[in-house]
Amino acid sequence: MLPSHAPGGLAVVVSEIALLTTFASLDLSAQLLKTLDSQGYETPTPIQAQAIPPVLEGRDLLGCAQTGTGKTAAFSLPLIQRLMTNGRTGRKHTRRRTRALILAPTRELAAQIEESLRTYGRHTGLRQTVIYGGVKQHRQVRQLQAGVDIIVATPGRLLDLMDQGYVDLRAIEMLVLDEADRMLDMGFIVPIRQIASKLPQERQTLLFSATMPPKIRQLADSMLHNPVSVSVTPTASAAPLIDQELYHVPDERKSDLLTHLLQDSKIVRTVVFTKTKHGADRLATKLARVGVTTATIHGNRSQSQRERSLAAFRSGQSRVLIATDVAARGLDVEGISHVINYNLPNEPDAYIHRIGRTGRAGATGQAISFCSRSERGYLRAIERLTGKRIETTQVPEVLDVPKDEPIVLSKRSESPAPRQARTPRRKTNSRHARPNQRAEPRAGGTPTSKRKATSKRKRTSKRKRTQCHTQ
Ligand code: AMP
Repeated sequence: MLPSHAPGGLAVVVSEIALLTTFASLDLSAQLLKTLDSQGYETPTPIQAQAIPPVLEGRDLLGCAQTGTGKTAAFSLPLIQRLMTNGRTGRKHTRRRTRALILAPTRELAAQIEESLRTYGRHTGLRQTVIYGGVKQHRQVRQLQAGVDIIVATPGRLLDLMDQGYVDLRAIEMLVLDEADRMLDMGFIVPIRQIASKLPQERQTLLFSATMPPKIRQLADSMLHNPVSVSVTPTASAAPLIDQELYHVPDERKSDLLTHLLQDSKIVRTVVFTKTKHGADRLATKLARVGVTTATIHGNRSQSQRERSLAAFRSGQSRVLIATDVAARGLDVEGISHVINYNLPNEPDAYIHRIGRTGRAGATGQAISFCSRSERGYLRAIERLTGKRIETTQVPEVLDVPKDEPIVLSKRSESPAPRQARTPRRKTNSRHARPNQRAEPRAGGTPTSKRKATSKRKRTSKRKRTQCHTQ
């Protein structure tokens, strides 16, 4: 649950709007207000304060917001209310027609949205179902045949069931694209367009994305009609409540370091991100050998295996969840004290999403990253995106890892805030770095002026790619 004050990372001006707003002032129905009250939601989050009124008015919406900002309720509440008010639901003896479609990139996110809809839509009589791949289609088909008001789906399986004639989208009044940037990254652009071509032209469309690169703007231009734009979290800022630290460690010693860190009882519940599915499995095996039980979640695991892993992690049966980026977004588990980047992501945006799994709902959290020599380019990209240098902690001496040369600060990076030393870890002081020391040898010997111009161009285009502008 989010706190009644603005959670970390939200734009100040927007937080003020939210603080002055109550759910009642957003024109939500008495029934929804009662449900929100029973959920313990006191005030709308900034994205809710901004998005609910225009969506209730029937406007299209372009929302720049990440998970963790309360965006699911921001679209679910007005969606439920509009379906109720326009009331063609639940008539006896007539088969329900599906009137709202929500597309999401992953099964986990789709399942979470469906769960939220079920919670918020309690007592409304609306019926929803969730459709995703990786499981047998029989149950999903049965639910579709029984008739549902709302479908939450990942694009691939939905298209599959549409092709088989099980889905009728001709009565759709509202379409929501959630985490649109992620869906595009996962190659869903063609399925999205194919699905959209089967929907009525006259409909309300909401598009949410954590970043606003040009391809998302193009998609928005082609699918939204005169949208209201709302924006709450500039993606290039990691939430201030998350304490970040970094170890320079060779790849082959990462599992030793992880095992050592896991002895710390402050790591109550942690997600460990690996680059590959096989890497995740290998790490799980290594940890099992030293007596650490883990749950694993990645694309090669069946849906029931993923569900079991999540359940074990949620219940505390497994304190460590090993995941690939499939879980970086959408995963909403309370009380994740630490996120550990066993491998740094090659996309800097993914770093923000990964570490956002901790420090949720106003709680503090800790993000620990392991960086091998070959990952230093990724580290620089992350620090450029966040505009902050991640503080380096020395690998504990007991592990006997050869000291690695610290990375040279990029010019734009800020010096880290002073921190209290922690034993047995020792901090590397950037002042100890040798002058003109390079983290990686430069290939090719490009002239300095040219290099500077190129990296400036890259920085500018990266900023443009990720910024969310409210119009
Ligand atoms: P989301 O960004 O939709 O993934 O939501 C993040 C978390 O915040 C979920 O666990 C929601 O239940 C919770 N939440 C959403 N809106 C509010 C609110 N207005 N007040 C308190 N908690 C909320």
